Amino acid sequence: MKEISREISETEVDELVGHLDFKTTAEIEIPERLVDQVIGQDDAVEAIKKAAVQKRHVMLIGSPGTGKSMLAKAMAELLPKEELEDILVYPNLEDPNQPRIRTVPAGKGKEIVDSYKQEAMKKSQARNFFLFTLFIFIIGYSAIRGEIIWGIIAAAMLFLVSRYIFPKEEKNIPKLLVNNKDKETAPYEDATGAHAGALFGDVRHDPFQSGGLETPPHERVEAGAIHRAHKGVLFIDETNTLTIESQQKILTAMQEKKFPITGQSERSSGAMVRTEPVPCDFILVAAGNLDALTGMHPALRSRIEGYGYEIYMNDTMKDTVENRRKLVRFVAQEVIKDGKIPHFDRNAVAEIIKEAKRRAGRRNHLTLRLRELGGLVRTAGDIAKSENSDLVRVEHVLRAKKIAKTIEEQLADKYIERRRDYRLFITEGEEVGRVNGLAVIGETAGVVLPIMAEVTPSLSKEEGRVIATGRLQEIAREAVMNVSAIIKKYIGKNISEKDVHIQFVGTYEGVEGDSASISIATAVISAIENIPVYQSVAMTGSLSVKGEVLPVGGVTQKIEAAIQAGMKRVIIPKDNLDDVLLDAESSGRIEIIPVSRIDEVLEYSLRDGEDKDRLLDRLRELMD
Ligand code: ADP
Repeated sequence: MKEISREISETEVDELVGHLDFKTTAEIEIPERLVDQVIGQDDAVEAIKKAAVQKRHVMLIGSPGTGKSMLAKAMAELLPKEELEDILVYPNLEDPNQPRIRTVPAGKGKEIVDSYKQEAMKKSQARNFFLFTLFIFIIGYSAIRGEIIWGIIAAAMLFLVSRYIFPKEEKNIPKLLVNNKDKETAPYEDATGAHAGALFGDVRHDPFQSGGLETPPHERVEAGAIHRAHKGVLFIDETNTLTIESQQKILTAMQEKKFPITGQSERSSGAMVRTEPVPCDFILVAAGNLDALTGMHPALRSRIEGYGYEIYMNDTMKDTVENRRKLVRFVAQEVIKDGKIPHFDRNAVAEIIKEAKRRAGRRNHLTLRLRELGGLVRTAGDIAKSENSDLVRVEHVLRAKKIAKTIEEQLADKYIERRRDYRLFITEGEEVGRVNGLAVIGETAGVVLPIMAEVTPSLSKEEGRVIATGRLQEIAREAVMNVSAIIKKYIGKNISEKDVHIQFVGTYEGVEGDSASISIATAVISAIENIPVYQSVAMTGSLSVKGEVLPVGGVTQKIEAAIQAGMKRVIIPKDNLDDVLLDAESSGRIEIIPVSRIDEVLEYSLRDGEDKDRLLDRLRELMD
């Protein structure tokens, strides 16, 4: 294992954990109710509490892993369990294909079924006793008469006939469809991605449909999630992925609070069976991202709008002492929830909170994508456990961070690897018109993105053109427009008489390039002035027409990418300095140069020499 280059200081740790005094997360108190464990979603928590009292439906829209299903579960805890019921299905002697449905208070269902079973057992015992005595009599009598063979034949026939003469008592035993005996809370049913049968119930196929071997229809009835959620919560994530037909049925179920069960596959014998309406008085918690709204059945949506609450989940929360303390509690909660991993020491918690800052991607905020952060907690815990450590320490968290990477981060790793193979990165020496820019993939992964510029006399007479390919065109055009204003004003050269060719080296799908404008500007200036650029420098920043360097997103991830690619210096906008949150392992491995104007960018990236000094003098004279 690599040595950890720097431990974070005691004061830094103290600040990160919100000055909470504890040695390990074992000392942190965790609220009993799930609803009180939810972090950073105050509006949603309020809505859930109100909706639980008023029995309203709820829609939660937001990013994955922010606590939507947790809130739905918490809501089930808040519902009164005194109202819970068991649901039974009985045979219908008049119409066997329409089994009867009855509800009884929770716990009674099993009692009823048991008493039916006992009754049936008594009857069959009496029957067996009667048959047995009869056999003995027949066989005994035939033996006395010396015709035992006939006796055995008569007994066997009697046995066969008896199966038809005596009704099977078991066939009248009701089936317990929904059992709420000993439930500690109202039911919570997650029906995400459920097919129709799982959602609305089903009637199994019967391969033997007659001849005494058949299973009576009521025994083949299976409850759906909507029925098991009776008097509780039905949670459906990605509601828009349900078929319109299913959404329609859910709407009907919500309105009627009852829904009959029928066989879902058309050709099965189950399709002939249709029960009486089965109670399904559930509260719907529908969840999803913004797309879920567009894909949702309008009537279902308006039902929730009209009779319930719609909440947008937070992705981040303010970075305050109080919220950092909540994240300390979060780590403790996740440890307890997992049940197998050791508790975290104070420094390890601090490292998790640092990661929460980093993942927020926003200054002075903490991430609320807590499922992912919980993943990191568990991975760190597993590593500690595999080493028989009684506590999770910083080094475990740091190693876990390497493993628990998002898909985007893994993609970026692959991308860097491949580019190294092709030697697309140049990390030493100097070159005219070539700059190592930085970009982010998705929201979480940084990459080095080399940019090349070349300036040629204009082909067209009227004006020069900016030539770039793909999505780069737009960004590049704006960047070049801004630089050309600067160049014209400060350097005195009119690049509108030239063609500027710009390309990303090995452009990669999905790369956001809008923060590349200082890189483009530097590459173009280097090309015009014929001054080489240091290749050990990487940069990111946006450029204004006045030559100011403006802040950009994802700085931390970009710096990490620069470190990984082997760069020595990285130029970033001064306004982004607070956003830099390197972990202990990365910090100190690269020189970070905060800048606020383009002349500073050039000062740190162009090769030292008279040309450069002259250029900078001219620039500064005009800019100051
Ligand atoms: P979603 O339904 O939004 O995708 P989940 O509720 O399934 O997310 O979250 C998964 C897990 O992540 C939760 O069980 C919990 O451990 C943790 N988690 C997510 N959001 C929160 C939160 N706001 N507060 C505390 N823990 C959370």
